[in-house]
Amino acid sequence: MIYLDNAATTKIYKNAQQARAFAEDKAFANSSSIHSFGLKSSNLLRESREIISSVIGSNPDEIYFTKGATEANNIVISSLSGENNIAITSSIEHSSVYDSFKNNIFKEVIYLKNDNYGFIDIEDLKDKLQNDVKLVSIIYANNETGTIQDIRKISDIVKSFDKNILIHIDATQALGKISCDVNELKVDLMSFSAHKFHGPKGVGGLYVRKEILQKIKPVLHGGHQQVVSSGTDNHPAISAMATALKEQIDADEFNYVDDLNKYIRKLIDKNISDYIFNTPDENYSPYILSVGFANIKSEVLLHMLEDNDIYVSSGSACSKGNNNRILEALDVDDKYSDGVIRFSFAGENTKDELEKTVNVLKESIDEIRRVM
Ligand code: PLP
Repeated sequence: MIYLDNAATTKIYKNAQQARAFAEDKAFANSSSIHSFGLKSSNLLRESREIISSVIGSNPDEIYFTKGATEANNIVISSLSGENNIAITSSIEHSSVYDSFKNNIFKEVIYLKNDNYGFIDIEDLKDKLQNDVKLVSIIYANNETGTIQDIRKISDIVKSFDKNILIHIDATQALGKISCDVNELKVDLMSFSAHKFHGPKGVGGLYVRKEILQKIKPVLHGGHQQVVSSGTDNHPAISAMATALKEQIDADEFNYVDDLNKYIRKLIDKNISDYIFNTPDENYSPYILSVGFANIKSEVLLHMLEDNDIYVSSGSACSKGNNNRILEALDVDDKYSDGVIRFSFAGENTKDELEKTVNVLKESIDEIRRVM
């Protein structure tokens, strides 16, 4: 099997599986129970907070656990909603941000302009800042294209306009892969999800800068385990998430993966005609490469690759093929927009796998174009 759909989800690391199994077997008490067995569980939560906070440069008590980035993004947007509040975001956000804005009441939601790679138009941001803006929410590394926004620049501009405007980033495709230091980025809120960095599914978190905690309201009420989200903590999954994050950071694989990204670009260029890269060649996450092939239906291509045990995506898995909103916002030419494939990598992938993939890709594209 050649798995090139790591932006949809990654394979869980063995150590993360073991951390979860350990907690489920040897420390399974409710982390809120005040007996000593419960303390074992709450110690795992504390250690997990320490690991994650050391990666993002926060205090441990600024990390709140959620069932993933979707919940974290929803918490942020519903907290800052209100009929007098304006929010600024982009048109190329993940659906958990985009749809959350559509389902909450704001005085106005402003969508910033972007270029063909999805880079935010900074001048447009400067023009759109105004009174009543309470939140700026921007995706850090884009899940479709890998485009990395200059968050520090955005924060500097926003904070110099009004330091009370909150800055939230969706760092789901960034954490563990590129620097996510919340102080360097100057962000107030940051969402993440464990299964994107070889942790378990259904667990993630939200960083909340201590000084702004009172502005964040839970979407789930009931327990008092956390201020931000209620319910019994899934500490085995949380412990596995922290273990995975540490391993992903220690793997130090950015350059290796960047080499893979550049290699497959070269192979595509050498073997296939009439395509465009939707991923820029600078300021991108090397873990993602989006390519539009002319006169191709991506679903057909995806299944031809699948027949050869090669797994890719025709856009974000969360949008199940319905990625027109992003492609429209990127203004991808109609000729290429039906044939967009997202390859997404992990440290386990090899150049040999990429060669096999491009061979099958070439044969499949030749065949599709022949019969069309
Ligand atoms: N944000 C981004 C950028 C994503 O890529 C994803 C998942 O695809 C999410 C949010 C949602 O993550 P989850 O489904 O783990 O809640």
